[in-house]
Amino acid sequence: MKIKRGIWFFWLMLGLLSASQADVVLQVLGSGGPEMDDSRASSAYLIWVDKKARVLIDFGGGASLRFEQSKAKIADIDVILLTHLHIDHTADLPALLKASFFTKRRRDLPVYGPDGNSIMPATQTFIKKLFKTGSGAWQYMGDFLDGSGTFTLKPHTIAFGKKPRRIYRSKEMYIYAVSVHHGPIPALAYRIEVQGYSIVFSGDMNGAYHTLEVLAKDADIMVAHNAVPQGANGVAAALHMTPDTIGKIAAKAKSKRVILSHRMRRTLGKERQTRFEISKFYKGPVVFADDGSSFELK
Ligand SMILES: [Zn+2]
Repeated sequence: MKIKRGIWFFWLMLGLLSASQADVVLQVLGSGGPEMDDSRASSAYLIWVDKKARVLIDFGGGASLRFEQSKAKIADIDVILLTHLHIDHTADLPALLKASFFTKRRRDLPVYGPDGNSIMPATQTFIKKLFKTGSGAWQYMGDFLDGSGTFTLKPHTIAFGKKPRRIYRSKEMYIYAVSVHHGPIPALAYRIEVQGYSIVFSGDMNGAYHTLEVLAKDADIMVAHNAVPQGANGVAAALHMTPDTIGKIAAKAKSKRVILSHRMRRTLGKERQTRFEISKFYKGPVVFADDGSSFELK
């Protein structure tokens, strides 16, 4: 009896220990793309550090409700990273800013995103077009840009570049970005390093620049967007990675785990085929994400 109790105590302590070790958690808020018939929010992710939501990556349609459900606090966010400015990655940003008014947030909120071109605005221009006093679509939110609000939204435009660069640094976090090929749309992949762990987000891309392989080197997690099936061609393949490309990149980068997100009608139901195509090149674990999926790093 005594021994049995001892064993239970051992397992209890082990459980408590491992729970407290999970200080870094990736949470998928939105595992879908632009479609609205799959019960998935559009692209959005959180990185939790010490039980606080510290990094927000993308914030597409539906993400604000998933954010609420996650119990994350707007006041805890250190930085927002936008992989690109398509609607399915940014549509709920105005909702987040409005909601922040009702929180205790008082410190500036940096937002990083890509440069512009002839069809897309640069990130700083994009934010001004949304909120600037006098000209923005929601100009009544201009206080958040000109310094007279409860805090200031600080947009940063990251110039095009095929070599990973450090774009953000705090006491405990480093963030790197590199340009990726998403058809004619300026787009970025990000790598977040925190507490010795690394999480990489491909964003939407088709792999043509061969930059993600470098950014994702030895990453603990690579979140890859699974928007098209094997055999895709035309516009779809110009914008997105096919599963074999995901496999090749993950293998080259030696990523420790691959999470597949940005799932769409084109790929839903084709998980077996997708997994098979990836496994031809990448032998590590591959997981399909759903809204709310959490992945602990330990
Ligand atoms: Zn997308």
